[in-house]
Amino acid sequence: MRIVEVRLHWIRIGFHEPFRISSGEVSAKDAIVVELVAEDGSRGWGEASPMAGAFYSVETPESTWKFLRDRLVPSFLARPEPACREKLDPMSCFEQLSEFPGEPFAKAGLEGAVWDLRATLERKPLWALLGGSARAIESGAAIGLFPTLEELLERVRRFLTEGYRRIKIKIAPGSDVALVSAVREHFGGIPLMVDANAAYRLEDAGIFEELDRFDLLMIEQPLARRALEEHAELQRRLRTPICLDESAEDLAAVREIIRLKSARILNIKVQRMGGLGPAKLAHDLGQAAGIPCWLGTMPELGIASAQGLHLATLPNFRYPTDVEASERWFVDDIISPPIEVSHEGLIEIPEGPGMGYRVAAEKLSGASILTERVQL
Ligand SMILES: [Mg+2]
Repeated sequence: MRIVEVRLHWIRIGFHEPFRISSGEVSAKDAIVVELVAEDGSRGWGEASPMAGAFYSVETPESTWKFLRDRLVPSFLARPEPACREKLDPMSCFEQLSEFPGEPFAKAGLEGAVWDLRATLERKPLWALLGGSARAIESGAAIGLFPTLEELLERVRRFLTEGYRRIKIKIAPGSDVALVSAVREHFGGIPLMVDANAAYRLEDAGIFEELDRFDLLMIEQPLARRALEEHAELQRRLRTPICLDESAEDLAAVREIIRLKSARILNIKVQRMGGLGPAKLAHDLGQAAGIPCWLGTMPELGIASAQGLHLATLPNFRYPTDVEASERWFVDDIISPPIEVSHEGLIEIPEGPGMGYRVAAEKLSGASILTERVQL
């Protein structure tokens, strides 16, 4: 099945409330939607989802758009060997895209569309193609930093009422032990974890030794991204598992984390890994090393979130995902039905070929700020 056209849609959707972590704040979500058109009219959808303004990474919507439009998509369409474009073999697509250095978000967008189109053409759900199983995914709520303790506790209470399976709170120097202590005092033994977003140094180990008393599920990314030796040292001093997120930036980093024993849990993000294929390989590396993982988010919009949920059905994804209900973050989304979390904290993936969710054409055009067609 030949791909005859690639359409790129730059979309923008507002957040209900600004998203804050220790390094800054954003109020709208941009993404580049990749639409593959096969010669029989079938469609495959992917999403490249860097944060605006280099908030999280050096890649931005602007740079990702340019790279997709000017480099990646023309190269993908012009390849003489057919493995990726005509046979639609997603894993060889990942290998082809690896010839370009960097740009994981752009690659994840194009590669996700290849996976989706392949599954759609085979009339299979995406999870089956990825090697997962038919299961609901547990969802956890992530709660940012708030000016007052009362606001934080109110959020925790709300998300527990909504059924989320674990609560993650962000911590930063000066706002850590007291927050965890207060949450434990008010809500008892709930499944609780913290995310430091790399805001501490090994010299702060005493803070984590204090946090070690609170039976946390895990402590996410306490130290800097590259501080793998230091994470290994900190992990040796703690009972609580360290989960690495920012550090797990590619397959080479995941191998190094495993070798150094820098973490006991991995947060795998499809966008950062450069697609479902490499994210699956990271999952497999963790599984072989006895390191469980879970699926993190940037957060992405509906297409990338839905595809991530399919990946999260693989057996070594053993903790709740950060994928939450669409309406938790976004004023609207472009998929139908929206992603929903049940009162038991579970996300059921709709049945059907591909990702099971449909891209709503009117919502896509409503959210688009720029569209481009690249034809063969
Ligand atoms: Mg994190």
